[in-house]
Amino acid sequence: MGGYSKRINSWAGFAGTKEPGFCVICGRFGELTRDHVPPRGCAQIANAVLSRLTMGAPGEGQPRNTIYIQGGLKFQTQCATCNNERLGLHFDPELKHFVDGMHVGMQAVARNVVLPRIIRLEANLHLVARSIIGHVLAAHSANDTQIWRQDIGASESLRQYFLHPDRAFPEEWRLYCWPYLSRKQVILRHASWMDVSLSSPAQKTVYGHVLKFLPFGFWLVHNQPMEFVIDALDITPRGAPDAARETCSFDLRLAPHHLYPENPSGHRLMLFANEQSSVATPDAKTRTSKR
Ligand SMILES: [Zn+2]
Repeated sequence: MGGYSKRINSWAGFAGTKEPGFCVICGRFGELTRDHVPPRGCAQIANAVLSRLTMGAPGEGQPRNTIYIQGGLKFQTQCATCNNERLGLHFDPELKHFVDGMHVGMQAVARNVVLPRIIRLEANLHLVARSIIGHVLAAHSANDTQIWRQDIGASESLRQYFLHPDRAFPEEWRLYCWPYLSRKQVILRHASWMDVSLSSPAQKTVYGHVLKFLPFGFWLVHNQPMEFVIDALDITPRGAPDAARETCSFDLRLAPHHLYPENPSGHRLMLFANEQSSVATPDAKTRTSKR
């Protein structure tokens, strides 16, 4: 296995370290548990090829720049309380409800039961947002848990929101969601997008994190300028923290391309670190061998 494969293996938490570390969410030092990203029950990939967003050229002692994974992508970066209680018991079930509703809606559309192609779902968006935030924060280098890093990027307010159920969603962030119809699972953290067509430099750029798995793409966007258009549904929770479920409407005809937003075109550019990205693709060999 080449050096690159070893690095991606270790980064993804598959190295199986028994070392205690700092939980990437609550900061507590101790034994760390493995978090599935996307969460178990919301998405399944039994066998997949894991790669970075940009493959780069092989060579320099790197025979492969992908690895095979079984049972989905896991990150050993969270304490049991954050992983099993906060996420597993409180937040993930609502995300699963949201995801299951979309699957049912898409099946109805495919059978032509629903016309026009609009799917309406009800969800407690605070719980959905906290679930997404928890898994995005968890998708972190396992090696980096050996030291505590205060305020990584602009994620500190997301971390605090996740930990404190009485808090409002942080004002400087927004959460977007759209129908995503590819089986590739994408994690992209700490990336920036620029729209060079906008006039003011301060209005050109957004920063954030993307998590995509069938049937949804999610994009956490920081300090979005008014003129920076995002082609997705704004599901930012703005109600009271104990708000009831809200209705979200998705028009499948308006779903963006499956490479959105990590493959910008036209006036858009993207700036990202390859090490903050991962793409899990269902194993093509397994699928073709069945034909
Ligand atoms: Zn924790």
